[in-house]
Parts: sequence; C-alpha cells; structure tokens
Amino acid sequence: MKVEISKTYNPQEVEGRWYAWWESNGYFRADAHSNRPSFVIMIPPPNVTGSLHIGHMVNDTIQDVLVRRKRMQGYNTLWLPGMDHAGIATQNVVERQLAAEGLTRHDLGREKFVERVWEWKKQSGGTILRQIRRIGASCDWSRERFTLDEGLSRAVREVFVSLYDDGLIYRGNRLINWCPRCMTALSDLETKYLPVDAKLYHLRYPVKGRPGEFVEVATTRPETMLGDSAVAVHPADERYNGLRGGTLVLPLMNRDIPVISDDAVDPKFGTGAVKVTPAHDPVDFEMGQRHSLQRISVIGEDAKMTAEAGAYSGLDRVEARKRVIADLEAQGLVSRIEPFQHNVGHCDRCGTIVEPLLSTQWFVKIQPLADPAIRAVEDGRVRFVPGNWAKTYFEWMYNIRDWCISRQLWWGHRIPAWYCGDCSEITVSRTDVTACSKCGSGNIRQDSDVLDTWFSSGLWPFSTLGWPEKTEDLKAFYPGSVLVTAYDIIFFWVARMIMFSLKFMKDAPFPDVYIHGLVRDADKQKMSKSKGNVIDPLGICDQYGTDAVRFALARMAAPGTDITVSEDHLESYRAFATKIWNAGRFILRYVDESDRLPSLAELKQSDLSLVDRWILSRLNRTIQEANASLDQYQLHEAARTIYRFFWHEFCDWYLEMIKLHPEQSKPTLLYVFESALRLLHPFMPFITEELWQSIPHKGETIVLAEYPEFGPELLDTRIEKHIEIVQELITKVRNIRSEMNVESKKEVAIRVATTDAEIVDLLEEARAYIFRLGRVSKIDVISALSADKLAAQAVVAGFALEVPLADLIDADAERARLTKEAEKIRREIDGLDRTLSNTRFIERAPKEVVEENRRRLADYREQAAKLTAAIERLN
Ligand SMILES: [Zn+2]
Ligand SMILES: [Zn+2]
Repeated sequence: MKVEISKTYNPQEVEGRWYAWWESNGYFRADAHSNRPSFVIMIPPPNVTGSLHIGHMVNDTIQDVLVRRKRMQGYNTLWLPGMDHAGIATQNVVERQLAAEGLTRHDLGREKFVERVWEWKKQSGGTILRQIRRIGASCDWSRERFTLDEGLSRAVREVFVSLYDDGLIYRGNRLINWCPRCMTALSDLETKYLPVDAKLYHLRYPVKGRPGEFVEVATTRPETMLGDSAVAVHPADERYNGLRGGTLVLPLMNRDIPVISDDAVDPKFGTGAVKVTPAHDPVDFEMGQRHSLQRISVIGEDAKMTAEAGAYSGLDRVEARKRVIADLEAQGLVSRIEPFQHNVGHCDRCGTIVEPLLSTQWFVKIQPLADPAIRAVEDGRVRFVPGNWAKTYFEWMYNIRDWCISRQLWWGHRIPAWYCGDCSEITVSRTDVTACSKCGSGNIRQDSDVLDTWFSSGLWPFSTLGWPEKTEDLKAFYPGSVLVTAYDIIFFWVARMIMFSLKFMKDAPFPDVYIHGLVRDADKQKMSKSKGNVIDPLGICDQYGTDAVRFALARMAAPGTDITVSEDHLESYRAFATKIWNAGRFILRYVDESDRLPSLAELKQSDLSLVDRWILSRLNRTIQEANASLDQYQLHEAARTIYRFFWHEFCDWYLEMIKLHPEQSKPTLLYVFESALRLLHPFMPFITEELWQSIPHKGETIVLAEYPEFGPELLDTRIEKHIEIVQELITKVRNIRSEMNVESKKEVAIRVATTDAEIVDLLEEARAYIFRLGRVSKIDVISALSADKLAAQAVVAGFALEVPLADLIDADAERARLTKEAEKIRREIDGLDRTLSNTRFIERAPKEVVEENRRRLADYREQAAKLTAAIERLN
C-alpha cells in the first residue's frame, strides 16, 4: 500500500501536532543520572513582561539548532527554559495599569501591590514561554525556572549573605544615578547616555575681599551651583597662581568656598576653573573625597530642590534652573550662555533624565570578583565567539566600578538586612529574623529595598540547578556548554554570570559564549516600534511556516554580523520547504509500506548506478562540511551547505536522473533522503519529522534519530568530478537550446570534440542521462571542432561542444551569442588579472586561494581562445 501525504505542505496543521507529541513523550527531558556526556544551555531568561520578538526568535533558533543536533548525536541535553522577574520593567507595567485605574502603588501598599504583580504574572507571564514552544524550541519544560522562585530566591540570599560576610557587599553613602520618575537608584548600565541640545552657562563667582574680581566657571546644570563647595583649578595653571588657596563667595547662597588645585581639572576647557558639587556629579564626588569637601545635596529624590537650596527649596529642578539664572543675571553674574550639545544620562526604562545624587545604597565591591573573571577570559577558560568580543569585555571589566545593587522598588528580592531601632546594628541573615543579632531587641525592620534584577540573573547558570543544595542536577549539568546571546547584554549579564560562577562554583559557567547579531530589516535598519519596521515573528511563522523562518534566520546568522530579514529571504525558504515536501511526495510514489530503510552495508551491496554513487558521495561531503561548520558555530555556513545539496544536487539533478531507473535507485533514494532529513532536522524540525514519519525509518522520532556522521568510505572524488562534467555539458546544451529557441519537444544531436579517453568513456556511461536531461538524441565524438558554420558551440570543462542547428538558427544570432559569451569571459579574465597583480592580495591570501585563481585564469584564457576561433569560423 502506498503512503499518502497531502499535495501541499500545511505548516499550521503539522507544527502544533508534532510539538505537543514531542513534549508529552518527554523527548526534550534531560536525565540527571545518564552516563552519556551532557550538553547544557541555559536560555537567556526573557522578561516576564515580554512577548516573543524577532531577536528572541534568532536567539532561540540558534540554541535549538545546537541542542537538537547534540541530542541527535547522543548527548544528554538540557536546554533549561525560564523567565526573569525583571524588577523595574515589570513594576512599571503594573504601575501603568494602576494609573489607568487612577491609583498608585502607594494606594495599595506594598503587600497588595506585590500580590497584584504576581496575579498579573500568572495571567500573562507565560505568554512568551508558549511562544517559545510555538517556534519549536526543544526546552526541558520540566525544569522551567523563574528568578523569583523559592529555590532561586534562596540562592540569592545565600549569595548576598556570603558576599556580605566576605566584606564584598557594603552599605554606603555614595553618588548614584537616580531616576526621579521611577524613584529608584539605577546602575550605570541602566542609564542610557543620549545626546541632548543643552546650554552652557558661564557664571562669575566674586573673589572674597577683592571687589570687582571674579572667577568664571561653566556648567550645564546651573541649579547645582547652590550645592557647590569649592572651585577647582589645575595645579599647573599659571592664570590662577594668585588665587590658589583663596576664597570665593558663592553667589545666591553667600557662602565662602575655597579655590583648590586638582589634577582632574582640564586647564584647556573654558576658563580652566570648574565648580565642584560633590553631591551631584561623579567627578566632583571623587574630587570632594580627595579634598574632604562638604557634600551638599540640593536636589532631592523627587527632583525638587531640598531645604539646603535655601530660597529655591521646594522648586522643581527645571524651574529652579530658570530662577537661579534669572537671579544671577540680575546681579550681573552670568557672563554668557551658549548652545552646547552633550550626552545626558536617561533612565533606560522610562526615559527620564537621571539625576546624580548622593544616596545610601548597597554596593558590591566588584574588583575582587572582576579580577578572576578577567583571568578566566584571558587564559581561555571562557571563549568568546567571535573572539573580538573579548576585547569589549576586557574594556568594560578593566574600568568596572562598584555595583549599586539596591533598588527602591517593591517587585524583586528584598534585601535580607534588618536594622535595629535600639542599637542601630544591621543584621544580615539567610533566614528572616525577628530580633537584633547584637542586642536582641525586637524593634527591628527589614530594609525596604529590593535587589537589582541582574543580581539574580547573574546566578542563573547554577541557581537554576538547585544551588545552594548539592543537587543531582547541579552535579550533572554544571558547568554548561555554551551561552548564546546577543551582544547588547554582555555586561549586564554575561560578565556577572562569570563573576558569580567563579566565586560560588569555583568554575566558569560555560566554556563558550556565542555572540550573535541583532536583527535588522532589509535596509539594514535596526528594528524599532517608532520606525514601524518591527517584524512580528509569530506573524511570519503563520505566513511562511516556522521551519522557513527558522531556516532564514539561521542562514543569515553569520557570527559577527547583524542579521537582516527580508520578505525575499522568507519567500525563498518557504519555497525550500515546498521543495523538500515535493521531494517527499516524489519518493512516496515509489515506496510501499513493505519497504525498509537500507543500512549502509545493505546499500553498498545493492546495484548502485553512477548517479547513486555520486549522490552518496555528495551527501557525505555535505555531512562533513555541515558538521564542521556547526562545530564552529557557523550555522549560516551549515545551512547554506545543506540547502545547496538538497536543492541543487538532490532535487535538481539526482531526482531527475533516477527517473530513468527508479526501482534500481530506490535504496539509495531512501537512504539519502532519510539522511538529508536528519541533517536538516535541527533547522527545520517540523517538516522533517512529518516526512520522516511517512517514509521508511528506524526509531520512534527524528528528534532522537542519529545525526548524520561523515563516512569517508562513501566519498568518490572521481565520480563527483565526472558528474560535474555531465551537469555542465547538459547545462550548456540546455542553454544553447533556450537561446536558440529550439522547441522543447525537438531533440538535438551533439558533437563533442575530445581525444581524452576518460571523457569518451564518461559520455558513454552517462549517455542515458544526457539524452534525457538535455533532450539529446545522439552524441558523436569528434577529434576537433568541425567547420560547420551553423553549429552552436560551447566550451565544457576542457573540451568543446557543438550542437548542429542547421534547420534552426541564423548565423547572425549565433555570432552575437558567441560574442556575448566572449565578452563575459573577457571580464572574468580582467578581474582575475587585477586580483593577481595586486601584491597585497598575493602576500596575504592563503596559498591555495592564489593557486585557485591562477588555475581559473588559465581556464578562462583557454575558453576565450576557443570562442575567438568559433566566432571567426562564422565570419
Ligand atoms: Zn525611570
Ligand atoms: Zn540592636
């Protein structure tokens, strides 16, 4: 009985069915007790607020290709999925919902608000995980994690308390970036610096005791002058020799401030004198520390002026700026105001301009954690792919500053520190405490802040496996095998995972970090909502089929470059899926339910035709190349290799050639098609399973079938060369036929001019294929080209070909055709000439490449000579 599949491939019907079946059969589940080698990837946990965007789909496709292949290669694979609670982002979402109801989080109170966030998480938090399933990601859902899970929260506490005990977490009053809208501290990484058109105000501060003398300073934030505690000049700046150590009178506040010397001042900028506001500028903060200057906070957390701002107290910072300038102008203390473009920090979440403020926060002392993390990359325990990302990593790590980890939010891991109301002791504890650790007083309160969301995601490689418990999973699956991520979170996340893992697991979290590009549109523009060029991945999966989208993304994911997605790509990979489907339908025409998949041994004993031996050799070369590419994370190369084989060799040639002897070729046909499906499976999981289940196969699912391995015994370089010649010959005959408008039903006789016995034998052996595919009725071997003026001529790999067209062509058309071909070859020769006379190329290119170019040039010269002769003959 024949197996039937539908006439056209219907992804919608196929995809959901197989995914549910795979999942319910537990094919994606890792086994902590397996003795097979493990292959582990932790998914970069998407934000719980998120829904799948095209960047996730690239990231997940790459991971899935790697994981599916390793699973097929027999590894005990774990791809662990999960989500990040995404502190500030999630809190903002729920706050916006409340705002729509006319409420703030303070109306609800902390407990009710957090309940509400959990409620929201329950409803919509799983969206992205369902979407990840939808695109075929073979995650082990039995091990799904959430950064606010009980287990992961325990890990967070353990890390916090150990770091505190080691003196690596401290509480301090330091300058931090503050978002007055979100009302929370931000790390340097959560602050985005954007160019802003601002003004530079030049202010004059009177010199005390010398009426009419002033020092001029410049600032973009004149309202901060109310908190100035000095003016600084460079020690070597002679202009200020008489003023150094002197005193100025701070206008508006009438406060005496010193003139100090500091190397940090750039004498070439402006007047060489700068105002120093330690409470509102990071450079000034450090200068203040060096000179023991007062820190006067004049702007509060709400971006309003504080009581320290005197008459300006209570004003918004924007209003205060206007009033300060107006008052200074009234006193003649503004010398000029000029336009000025500079970078200003904005809150990464809400876009509000951040205010550098003095604030008491929790910090991680980072240097002792950063040093081992730098060494781990230096000595190759962690490798970036492509390698140039290591440079970016080092640059950041060498300049790393203490990490402010407390956030004035309610959604997140609450800081496990309790303050005593009686003796002011701070108790930091792994478990909740009810009494002060020093005086035993019950008058204590827990710190109301939560931790930066990246604190918990930094523990992801091991907290997900049950750490700090010594679990079976931790033993089996730590460290992981590779981290796959886009380059925009190297610092936020990758660096922190490396630091925390080295500290707490004494081992790097993964040997490889594969960094892929961001997705851009067909015009290479970054996708953004405001540009309106965002591609919805699920929309295109519906439209083109998930396999086609996955293949397109993998095909474009060359390491080190951004990924462009256009409709043309998607269109052409949908066509590829159709091609695969049609190949399956063709094969099923010859297959009965009684047919079995031949083993390699059985195959070798069967009656292999010339083209069978050829396709087996090509298949093996493809397997070899694809595996080599995948081992190097060159997914785009592997995809290209497999595509080329499947479409241009298997479908275009092999399937056509064996129409002459389908029964004889059936074992090879089944063997090659089944292998090709397995080769393709990591890229196109759905269509490959659907077809694999329809043809003879061994095993339960292609998910667990063996990934094709290179078998050198099937390679046959000589046959590959021969079929290449046959293909070229047929192509040339077809070209001549179409250019000369030979009716398709008419057969042509051809003449081949050669004295090469190997070619003569080949023409004999391949005669039937040439006849069928070239619509040829006769092949004559001649020793030299004839003088037949009405024969179209072409050059094929070292010999010449004639197609007598006496009844069909006029000499003019033929002359034009040959001239055109001669010009084309002339251009090739010119190009190669240029390349080969470029000394830089000769010196730098690999030897084989130079040799290959020389060989091609010689070939072209020979062809040009033959064409010239042919054209002359027509004249
Ligand atoms: Zn904000
Ligand atoms: Zn106490």
